[in-house]
Amino acid sequence: MPSPSENAPDSFVRVRGANENNLRSVDVDMPRDRIVAFTGVSGSGKSSLAFGTIFTEAQRRYLESVAPYARRLIQQGHDPHVESISGLPPAVALQQRRGAPSSRSSVGTVTTLSNSLRMLFSRAGTFPKGFTTRLDSDAFSPNTVAGACPECHGIGVAHTVTEDSLVPDPSLSIREGAIAAWPGAWQAKNLRDITIALGYDVDVPWRDLPPADREWLLFTDEQPVVQITPQRDRVAKPYNGMFWSAKKYVFHTLADSKSQMMRTKVLQFVRSGPCPLCGGTGLRREALAVTFAGRSIAELNALPLTDLADVIRPTTQLTEVTPALPTTLSGERTDVAVALTTDLLARIEVLTDLGLGYLGLGRATTTLSPGEMQRLRLATQLRSGLFGVVYVLDEPSAGLHPADAEQLLEVLAQLKSSGNSVFVVEHNMDIVRHADWIVDVGPGAGEGGGHVLYSGAVPGLAAVEASVTRPFLFPHAHAASVTRRDRREASAWLTVEGVSLHNLADIDASVPLGTLVAVTGVSGSGKSTLVSRVLPEVVRAHLRSDDTPDEIDDTPIDAGGDDSRPAEATVPDAGADSLTVRDVRGLEHIDRLVRVDQKPIGRTPRSNLATYTGLFDAVRAVFARTDLARERGYGAGRFSFNVAGGRCETCLGEGFVSVELLFLPGSYGRCPTCDGARYNAETLEVTYDGRTIADVLALTVEQASEALASIPAAARSLRALLDVGLGYLRLGQPATELSGGEAQRIKLATELQRVRRGHTLYLLDEPTTGLHPADVQRLLAQLHALVDSGDTVVVVEHEMDFVAAADWVIDLGPAGGDAGGRVIAAGTPEHVARNPASRTAPYLAERLR
Ligand code: ADP
Ligand code: ADP
Ligand code: ZN
Ligand code: ZN
Repeated sequence: MPSPSENAPDSFVRVRGANENNLRSVDVDMPRDRIVAFTGVSGSGKSSLAFGTIFTEAQRRYLESVAPYARRLIQQGHDPHVESISGLPPAVALQQRRGAPSSRSSVGTVTTLSNSLRMLFSRAGTFPKGFTTRLDSDAFSPNTVAGACPECHGIGVAHTVTEDSLVPDPSLSIREGAIAAWPGAWQAKNLRDITIALGYDVDVPWRDLPPADREWLLFTDEQPVVQITPQRDRVAKPYNGMFWSAKKYVFHTLADSKSQMMRTKVLQFVRSGPCPLCGGTGLRREALAVTFAGRSIAELNALPLTDLADVIRPTTQLTEVTPALPTTLSGERTDVAVALTTDLLARIEVLTDLGLGYLGLGRATTTLSPGEMQRLRLATQLRSGLFGVVYVLDEPSAGLHPADAEQLLEVLAQLKSSGNSVFVVEHNMDIVRHADWIVDVGPGAGEGGGHVLYSGAVPGLAAVEASVTRPFLFPHAHAASVTRRDRREASAWLTVEGVSLHNLADIDASVPLGTLVAVTGVSGSGKSTLVSRVLPEVVRAHLRSDDTPDEIDDTPIDAGGDDSRPAEATVPDAGADSLTVRDVRGLEHIDRLVRVDQKPIGRTPRSNLATYTGLFDAVRAVFARTDLARERGYGAGRFSFNVAGGRCETCLGEGFVSVELLFLPGSYGRCPTCDGARYNAETLEVTYDGRTIADVLALTVEQASEALASIPAAARSLRALLDVGLGYLRLGQPATELSGGEAQRIKLATELQRVRRGHTLYLLDEPTTGLHPADVQRLLAQLHALVDSGDTVVVVEHEMDFVAAADWVIDLGPAGGDAGGRVIAAGTPEHVARNPASRTAPYLAERLR
């Protein structure tokens, strides 16, 4: 075990006088080339130390070495409040918050495994007879001109129109509007007149027109021009009109119209499905004809990584190989094939070790959870060959079943053994216990934290009484902090039968209503599919048909929502992703559905928790009632940074302006006019209790609950935010800076402050992400309170202290992907913990002792 005396003096990162955010002149030394865990309750200052101080300083030094002037411009590069840091290596940060991945990136592109697979096909694939030269590796990518399918341009989706889609009601005549896809208003009359002039009957029901006429009117590319003599209006002169078939009109509008409204309107007549030319792969036919181990690159892209590993493994084991020649049709048994597959296999195994073997290379990153995404990036770093850097990681165990945590430790150990320092902010005590060193920050959050309570080898923390982490790290030595309660009985059951979606294949599941239910299982076993797709779709359909007007959470269900894509690309994927359910029982007991998910509470810096919870409305109203505001005639709107009037017009109320830098796209700098305050000078002259509106936005929830105690509506929201452990957040902290877990807890708080009626079903996906075990207990208390008032809470969860405290457990598995998707055990935690087939059981049993 390393300790300062055993290491050479220069093998430590030494921080002196760190004052970032809530840190109180922190001095701390951490060994390099070791795994160092940063612990403490949420808001204690772990991130302020690991990211805000250590990583930011490393980044500042880096930027200064490449472009000194850039540092002054960009906000991310602001100087941390620290006197000195010595022994600091260059740093690489892998964080979960921020950054919506682009819709074209996939597991294969972020890991660069796609590049290697294309290389394999180009250099060592089997080409059909007739090929004289090998295809370049670009030819195997739908994102290049060389590879993209000419029909769909590499997207893989084709938009088509059919008679059914263009003519929804064939009993109508053309005059009555049978061709619904045609434009409305005067253009409709114009097209009808042209159709009459061309000799078609516009007064018979559409279905009675001859098939050839229907075909031509809908689909022809011809655009005859005819002379029209307006019939009713005798004053108008004859004119020339050009015919547009419905198809021609729809595609012309999609491609050329500047009006988003017009495009959206015609989209409803378009059906989307896999491109018929490339079968949805986005690739040219020549590329699809090349195989490796008997399969095309598109087939390999669709396989789960564990299966892909099985396909290429035999090649890595070949003993008799020939030299690769560009002229032979198959390169599968060559030295090049062996070298390329060996490299691929090693890199895939890192991913499977990290519990991601159920993902395929072609899976879009927009459908991954932040935890999955971070582990993908982590795996990529392992092969980067970097050494002598410090990796700063944000809860790498997020989303991992305890059975997979051991592999994560392996990966961290590999990063270390290749000569790197690994600094992790972590809440999972199984990971923390295996670190070489622990830095415990606290004792409380915000003002109540900011001290380093302990820095040293893990066992030493046992002697630190002030540490909130200690009882969780050494549960047997210290009083068990988990309070046991009696298990509740179901008030009724919600049962779904014959459910199929993703890897769930015809399963049945029952949810005991009026209880707290934990859904468990290794990554990829199907938990999110069940809780975030199946249950919401089933219940929502019932609530809609019931015509319940009440607050149905209308978050779109598609898992890969990406607001930034243009409308043309958001046409839902064809059928592949659709849910089937044979039977549902018990829906009548549910009056309301609330999903508390990890999606951002807003996608721009304009949203924040004050606007989201509604507490800012109450604050603005109070500002408008001050003497000065009345005197000047300022209403509540004056105190909004989202509308003109009170806001700063330079930054339009954002507080930031974007700075164009070639090498750092999308950087923001503080607004030079308002200096980040977001409001203009006149607005800031108004104060309430000595604070400007900008000062209020700068308060933490904890500070605000004192400062705004006399505003009842605000106080209620703030109370709820404190209850879910968010006292450390600032009111104005932009939504884009919040982690998924924080966004989820803000939603929960918003829900808690509401007056509720009827039976509500709450669905949550891993609410403990980012929470210290002590905070997990507080969250549990909140959820139990919801259940006590008669509601049902269903939670996807890996944290075994949480699962042990649930009334009921549904364990999915046994493994991920196609090897999972079944209900392995269901019952009380004690019952599930005894099931020998469950991979969750041993970990759960340990917490129940
Ligand atoms: P942890 O990582 O332990 O959850 P943080 O380091 O994120 O804690 O936060 C520590 C304290 O610093 C909290 O009170 C938090 O509100 C505050 N804080 C965090 N980021 C900022 C910021 N950008 N500006 C001001 N205060 C911040
Ligand atoms: P868990 O929540 O237990 O980690 P998921 O429900 O996310 O598991 O995934 C179960 C299976 O469904 C996995 O094989 C996963 O790859 C697949 N899957 C999940 N979401 C999608 C999606 N949007 N598109 C295709 N496959 C998906
Ligand atoms: Zn295509
Ligand atoms: Zn400004």
